[in-house]
Amino acid sequence: MLTGPYKIIEFANDNMLKIWGKDAAIIGLPHHIAIPELGEQNFGALIEKVYTSGIAFKGHEQKALIIQNGVVTKGYYNFVYEPIKDDQGVTSILIIADDVTEEVRTRKQANRTSQMLNMAIESAELGTWFFDIESLEFFPSTKLKSLFGFQAADLMPYTKAVDFISAEYRQEVIEAISSALKNGERYDLEFPISVNETGCIRWLRATGNLSKPDADKPSYFSGIVMDVTARKLDDQRKNDFIAMVSHELKTPLTSLKAYVQILILKASKVQDDYAVGALNKAEQQINKMTNLIKGFLDVARLEAGKINLNIEAFNISELIQEVVADANEIMSSHKIIFLPCKEIIVNADKDKIAQVITNFISNAVKYSARGKNIFVSCQEHQGMIQVSVKDEGIGIKSQDIDKLFSRFSRLENSDTQTISGFGIGLYLCAEIIKRHNGQIWVESEPGAGSTFHFSIQQLSTT
Ligand code: ADP
Repeated sequence: MLTGPYKIIEFANDNMLKIWGKDAAIIGLPHHIAIPELGEQNFGALIEKVYTSGIAFKGHEQKALIIQNGVVTKGYYNFVYEPIKDDQGVTSILIIADDVTEEVRTRKQANRTSQMLNMAIESAELGTWFFDIESLEFFPSTKLKSLFGFQAADLMPYTKAVDFISAEYRQEVIEAISSALKNGERYDLEFPISVNETGCIRWLRATGNLSKPDADKPSYFSGIVMDVTARKLDDQRKNDFIAMVSHELKTPLTSLKAYVQILILKASKVQDDYAVGALNKAEQQINKMTNLIKGFLDVARLEAGKINLNIEAFNISELIQEVVADANEIMSSHKIIFLPCKEIIVNADKDKIAQVITNFISNAVKYSARGKNIFVSCQEHQGMIQVSVKDEGIGIKSQDIDKLFSRFSRLENSDTQTISGFGIGLYLCAEIIKRHNGQIWVESEPGAGSTFHFSIQQLSTT
């Protein structure tokens, strides 16, 4: 309480003294002498105005520099200067103040963080959205609307956005989003849309997830969308190039192989054993090269969405036996052992499943020392058919396992340096198994060996 024209500090409680950064010695002194720094910052003038006008003043989150224990301290305060009057007019001023420095700082920091985040989102040209789980309302950002070809003021409900997704991707996107919402999973998808009105195709990458901050707080579902058209077109050009080069290389190899086969026949007729041996080796190398080129062609076809499954019913145990017999013929450096299993009929693409098993076996050969065993087995498990290829090779570190099945992924370390490859085999296997709605995975221990597995369900032929 400040009293009289000199605003003598009549009384101040401990909290007030703490805000002022002074001790009880200031009680009895005029306000402008006790806390001169406040007078210099216009608070003195405000107090004087309240005293002369009789009208209270309320300050909201006002910044003040106060010398607390000899140190200039910046703080924010809510306060009231309340005039106390008698018949003659104002006699004293009651000051009530609250230190809100912490709240203001936290809010300012939060504002700064969200400003920085917004700037980053804007400069990365990311569209963002938020889904209110309670009202089921969809809130797209202006950038997201523009990616879909809408103006900022246009309404873009979720159902309308979904309609723009190309038909062959729509169901997959809807299912991934619903499952993320239901099970709290994250999704990360790429799909083309036809942009509003113009109808031109734009490729988008969309990620999103359900955040559950606390059990008592509401969950929110949000995500980002970015334009990846330029990268997709680049990928497409690269794929077209790979497809063209592979195709051009395949043609001369086919005639080369035909000539080598004719020469083998001729050489065997004249019993030229040396020529037969050398030509057989040449043919093997041609086959190796043809397989490499076939791998590239498969990647290009796959990415252009041109791999179709040729589903038929067959006995997978018989197929494994054939693949193992072929592998034992060409890969004499290792013992490939088929652990027989009972007859299991599956509906799948026989050639492609054979390709996956062959790939597993040739990797097992490539990544284990000569003379080691490779075991191929098959079992039925909860309605799924599981095929496994186990080796006693170099193994794979657990941190590398996730990378194995992506395109052009090779593990670079001292063990694999000398082994050639392009990192497409397992990628193709994973894509083939994915198209059969199956699972592919590996268990491995560095130095002890790896077991690659895949499992497929019985596919419906209808
Ligand atoms: P690559 O042509 O390089 O063999 P893959 O896609 O078939 O391509 O395999 C990808 C990588 O996975 C390989 O480069 C290798 O590092 C690792 N890998 C695959 N199979 C095995 C295995 N049986 N044992 C150890 N590492 C393996």
